[in-house]
Amino acid sequence: MEPSRSLAGRRALVTGAGKGIGRAAALALSAAGAQVIALSRTRADLESLAQEGAGIQVLCVDLADWEATEAALSKVGDVDLLVNNAAVAMLQPFLEVTKEAFDRSFSVNLRAVLHVSQIISRQMIARGVAGAIVNVSSQASQRALQEHAVYCCTKSALDMLTKAMALELGPHKIRVNSVNPTVVMTDMGRINWSEPQKAAGMIRRIPLGKFAEVDDVVNSILFLLSDGSAMTTGASLPVDGGFLVA
Ligand code: NAP
Repeated sequence: MEPSRSLAGRRALVTGAGKGIGRAAALALSAAGAQVIALSRTRADLESLAQEGAGIQVLCVDLADWEATEAALSKVGDVDLLVNNAAVAMLQPFLEVTKEAFDRSFSVNLRAVLHVSQIISRQMIARGVAGAIVNVSSQASQRALQEHAVYCCTKSALDMLTKAMALELGPHKIRVNSVNPTVVMTDMGRINWSEPQKAAGMIRRIPLGKFAEVDDVVNSILFLLSDGSAMTTGASLPVDGGFLVA
């Protein structure tokens, strides 16, 4: 691996690491030489991840719980790289959006990103390290999609939080960027995009004519965490096969 891409010796925290993109990112970071702390909600997922990736430490917490998150993160020690990946996609037609879906979505997809990033950035600053943070956003941050009103708003706000964090953390040598994938067939993708007509309608809007693979997203996350992107901060990197050009 080129030296600029090596993550050897760095400690990385990945949220939502039990399944899907987060799980693959945790394994890829570990393979790139980082010491990984994998945070997620379902203990069984974390136990199987610890078996699969030797040396991966696990942390079981519901990020919607502010106090529990603070208590859990007080024990993680030094972190140099942070991937804010955990999110929920609770799709509802606009006229049927519930308070519960709104509150849970914003708690996990936005508030927890702010809170986890505050805790980790404070200790990066205290240690004087040049840290990197990647927020996993979505193409849905920039286009309205059917039944995605709340999800789109959480990701749109996340893109702006990425910029606001980049502005205030840059002077402390902490870079903050997002990746903005199109549909990926993880559990979240399968629940929302398995219906063939709905999937075909989305694929028609993607110039490359296909959904993203988990590895497409993971490769971009690793690039934005690495010194290979040392001059990039506050950016939202589409991993969308061109969806956002139209
Ligand atoms: P996924 O398969 O549903 O996995 C999400 C992971 O996050 C799970 O391990 C889940 O744990 C965890 N998580 C959710 N809520 C949590 C909470 N409150 N506390 C702690 N952990 C929590 O989703 P994915 O497709 O990998 O999505 C990963 C990221 O990519 C998300 O930010 C998503 O918005 C974004 N994204 C996904 C797609 C797509 O089509 N899949 C497209 C664009 C962007 P539990 O299962 O135990 O709750």
